[in-house]
Amino acid sequence: MHNQATLPLLLKQLHLSSMYSQWEEVSLQAQQEKWDYAEYLTVLANRELTSRQQKRIERHLKESALPFGKTLDTFDFEASKSVNAAQITALANTLDWVQQASNLMIFGPSGVGKTHLASAIGHRLIEKGARVFFTPTTTLVQKLQQARRDYKLTDSLNKLARFNVLILDDIGYVKKDEAETSVLFELIAQRYESHSLIITSNQPFKEWDQIFPDNIMAVAAIDRLVHHSTIINITDDSYRRKQSTQN
Ligand code: ADP
Ligand code: MG
Repeated sequence: MHNQATLPLLLKQLHLSSMYSQWEEVSLQAQQEKWDYAEYLTVLANRELTSRQQKRIERHLKESALPFGKTLDTFDFEASKSVNAAQITALANTLDWVQQASNLMIFGPSGVGKTHLASAIGHRLIEKGARVFFTPTTTLVQKLQQARRDYKLTDSLNKLARFNVLILDDIGYVKKDEAETSVLFELIAQRYESHSLIITSNQPFKEWDQIFPDNIMAVAAIDRLVHHSTIINITDDSYRRKQSTQN
């Protein structure tokens, strides 16, 4: 004879926290609705799974450092006519391109919504199960340079490889002197064909020799980035400016 009183203890020991907190309530429902044993267990196990998925998404959102509130719901496609809503929605709603380690490049002048779009896509990809990390490129380059000085560059790059998608915001703000040690190139080379990058830039490719120490490295970086990539060019007027002239 099994003692029902031990059930919560067993669930707790097994770290089934949602089953632990809900088994009683669900068992009442099961009695009322005359579920069979398998049905009861299925419902309870499903609750456990759902709450684990939710917690995982919350954890991934927290670690992502994505700008708050910059989501697809707050992006007005009517105001950004050069942005193809269907294309953005497709990129945000499928993990296919992430699984294929493709990249997404978003170009355009300042204030047109590059950062907003990159983070909106990032938010949605997290909901779909991806791990995403958002960072201003200059911040990351500085960290990687420090890591190189500490002989920990490989470690740092490997840590970034935990993320399916790394968003490098404003790559154009990196200046040659910052990138002297070419850590940015090493990052791009390491993620090539294994992990996705989303890059925003207000500098077109032809000006990327200002980012990398030399032309050859700029070409090599661009080659790797565009080999498997979607390129989006935003040509609208600055949303910021439009807003300020409306007020
Ligand atoms: P960029 O990165 O291209 O310089 P941002 O993404 O920072 O531009 O956009 C500038 C500001 O305008 C942000 O506050 C952003 O949320 C807002 N914005 C830009 N485009 C849109 C849009 N189509 N709908 C809603 N907000 C927008
Ligand atoms: Mg920006």
